[in-house]
Amino acid sequence: MQTSFKRILVTGGAGFLGSHLCDRLVEQGHDVVCLDNFYTSQKSNIAHLLGKSNFELVRHDVVHPIFLEVDEIYNMACPASPPHYQYNPVKTMKTSVVGAINILGLAKRVRAKVLQASTSEVYGEPQEHPQTEAYWGNVNPIGIRSCYDEGKRAAETLFFDYYRQNKVNVRVIRIFNTYGPRMHPYDGRVVSNFIVQALGGKDITIYGDGSQTRSFCYVDDLINGIMGMMNGPDDFVGPVNLGNPGEFTMLELAQLVLELTNSKSKIVHLPRPADDPSQRRPNIELAKSKLNWEPKVSLRDGLKKTIEYFASIDLRNYRKPTGGK
Ligand code: NAD
Ligand code: UDP
Repeated sequence: MQTSFKRILVTGGAGFLGSHLCDRLVEQGHDVVCLDNFYTSQKSNIAHLLGKSNFELVRHDVVHPIFLEVDEIYNMACPASPPHYQYNPVKTMKTSVVGAINILGLAKRVRAKVLQASTSEVYGEPQEHPQTEAYWGNVNPIGIRSCYDEGKRAAETLFFDYYRQNKVNVRVIRIFNTYGPRMHPYDGRVVSNFIVQALGGKDITIYGDGSQTRSFCYVDDLINGIMGMMNGPDDFVGPVNLGNPGEFTMLELAQLVLELTNSKSKIVHLPRPADDPSQRRPNIELAKSKLNWEPKVSLRDGLKKTIEYFASIDLRNYRKPTGGK
């Protein structure tokens, strides 16, 4: 049984991943502070935690400094879906870069261990496949995805500079596409889009011919990896890839969603967005060897649980977080 309860800050704690992380930390008995400005999430994700004696919600924007006495920080705050991070690209860059400076400054001051949620997007349009952590990436610095990709790259730089210069105890993970319950139904990501479309009998929108690939990790597996990294070996700071190495085309994903939802929706093809990576798959040998971690949930099983979730929510309770219809 765990005896040492920690004070843990989760920035972006009301988001898709952050809320699952808060659940697990609260369940373990830690004193959890969830910090969020609700830019891309709704309180409903954490409503069940409000009122618990070891859970606190702080409405705050990481672009502004904050002082909190904590032992550990998971820095998850950042819009993650392309329509969300492209809605206000300057804000996205500020959240990643100024947010990292503020959170690292806090970690330095209170001597907290701090984990950065980085992304497979740091590899850009990868010329190496599958991607290992040693690959430096192929990123457009001036495109529509750059606010996110370059923001996250700069945040990684800051984490490693605070580590070398100030001896801050850091951890850096690179998350590959993750899905599951509590994704925002209107966040525009491919899994949520296809499921919401299939359940609603609407056309399934494939961007381009659907031959581009992604590797999809179920949220429970990812949370195990994130916590494994925070609590892993002292001398292992990362970066480490966390994702499911199964690789699927968007056409395969659409067909699987149609099959599992029994939907009669038809597939339509829309123009492919600029700089959309054509292939992505993590090499997870480092996570396996250092953290003894690998994902367990197949895409089929994870999609079934995610479909069940989307079928259970009332879409009228959700609004598009970043404007639009
Ligand atoms: P999400 O949009 O559901 O969650 C992000 C949360 O951060 C939201 O609650 C949002 O309101 C909050 N936030 C945004 N800007 C903020 C700010 N300036 N101050 C305070 N809070 C702010 O997205 P998610 O999928 O849960 O992603 C969480 C983190 O993981 C992000 O940093 C994202 O870049 C990273 N990540 C996610 C994936 C994925 O597939 N889900 C992949 C790679 C990286
Ligand atoms: N995509 C799609 N239809 C959609 C949404 C996304 O075909 O309705 C494609 C998108 O072009 C990309 C892939 O699915 O190739 C994954 O997109 P997502 O926005 O989920 O994540 P990311 O591009 O950041 O990996």
